[in-house]
Amino acid sequence: MQDQTSSSAVGPADSQIGFVPDSPIARPLTQAQHAFFARLPKVELHCHLLGTVRRATFQALAAKHGAPLTAGDIDGFYTRGTRPIGVLRVLRALEAYLLLEPDDLRQITYEYLEDAAAGSIRHAEFFWNPTATIRDAGLPYDRALAGILQGMRAAQADFGISSLLIPAIDREAPAADAMTMVEAVVAHPDPRVAGIGIDYREPDGPPEMFADAYALARRHGLRTTAHAGEFGMPWTNVATVVDQIGVDRVDHGYTIVENPELARAYAARGLLFTIVPTNSYYLRTLDAERWALDHPIRRMAQLGLKLHPNTDDPTLHHVSPAGAWELMYSHLGFGLTDLRTMMLNGIDGAWASEAQKTLWLAQWPAEFDTLAAEAGFASGAWLSLRDF
Ligand SMILES: [Zn+2]
Repeated sequence: MQDQTSSSAVGPADSQIGFVPDSPIARPLTQAQHAFFARLPKVELHCHLLGTVRRATFQALAAKHGAPLTAGDIDGFYTRGTRPIGVLRVLRALEAYLLLEPDDLRQITYEYLEDAAAGSIRHAEFFWNPTATIRDAGLPYDRALAGILQGMRAAQADFGISSLLIPAIDREAPAADAMTMVEAVVAHPDPRVAGIGIDYREPDGPPEMFADAYALARRHGLRTTAHAGEFGMPWTNVATVVDQIGVDRVDHGYTIVENPELARAYAARGLLFTIVPTNSYYLRTLDAERWALDHPIRRMAQLGLKLHPNTDDPTLHHVSPAGAWELMYSHLGFGLTDLRTMMLNGIDGAWASEAQKTLWLAQWPAEFDTLAAEAGFASGAWLSLRDF
């Protein structure tokens, strides 16, 4: 749940990857190679429903509900600066003023999945925070959920994209609210609700505060993931979610690089980290000239961690799924070998059925290789980051 910055242009795919600083190790791409990233079969495991709202839909919902927001406010929400400010205020505005009826949630869900499918996301697992929806919009969990599920079913029928919902703890709210949320999830089980997560501002809500809510979810067979090591918060938060809470995967997790020994242990056990190349914390804090070289995503890979790139808040970050994957190659120095492995990491870490995952594992590698051959990459493009 981060955003990004702006700087100079990087080529014809700017409309896909928004604005990020130049990279000293940038690799130019042909149109065919840009297309490769858009056509690559992939899953998305780290995306927030409220960070996917199209600008036109935001404007229409604001008008529909008479939200106390000016056109300038909305323009500001969708503008990235060179020193990016967070997107959380946008998400809070959506919760307070715009997403007031189940049909509003149906619409943004359907549109997110339509956009994801257009970027060759075949399966999406995405976050939604019920706590503020219930508190601010007065929508009961089951009614809000019904709207989202309706959007998910319609998108699968219309675009062929499968999806799972991850209700996420609002860590800015009291721990008791997290328990209430998990109780609601447990009381309204649905095969499309696979597990829980946690997000919003990590400095205000260390993970141990919510251990009881996670334990309740696990007792009821729900999978778990958690945002940790984001906003520069220490590696100990990553250790807490992995070793104390027992999550199935970690969202972000960047500061684990500060404890290489533990990182190698997590690598050995195959723990998946869903990472975000447009994460704003590092775009804001790293030297723009060295942003790409110093990004902890590279160090995570060198420590052997299992990674999977994601958009996080695509319309607010100005990044598409294709753009997120392309940045890994064009700016951060990963090779096609790495991306092929990440594609498989995503399948492995997904909470889809084993039968479905087996099918993807059988089909996608060949599809990747065919698309890469058509895109005309030089043989050096396959070199792994770890070979350098
Ligand atoms: Zn996130």
